[in-house]
Amino acid sequence: MESNLKGCPFCNSKAEVLDLRKYKVFMVKCRKCGAVVEGASKRRAIDRWERRENEAMVQELWKVVDEFKVSVYGDKHDNVRRIKGELKGILRKYA
Ligand SMILES: [Zn+2]
Repeated sequence: MESNLKGCPFCNSKAEVLDLRKYKVFMVKCRKCGAVVEGASKRRAIDRWERRENEAMVQELWKVVDEFKVSVYGDKHDNVRRIKGELKGILRKYA
């Protein structure tokens, strides 16, 4: 179940559940940037981590970011122009 957690909303990295029940809390924490949410139960912490506004838009934006990482070594001006266009298109679509 934990391996199916959504990526971090800030950096899209993998997250893990921390069992801190001796402190009466569970946490879901990003392994890269340290973003964290808490819950009184494991379920509650995971529900909070998984709750996203504009999920579809965020997924499209992350796709562009990943594509940019791959294409950054090509012709930079062309890539930046194209990616700016893609981002504008996505933002228009969800405005
Ligand atoms: Zn993160």
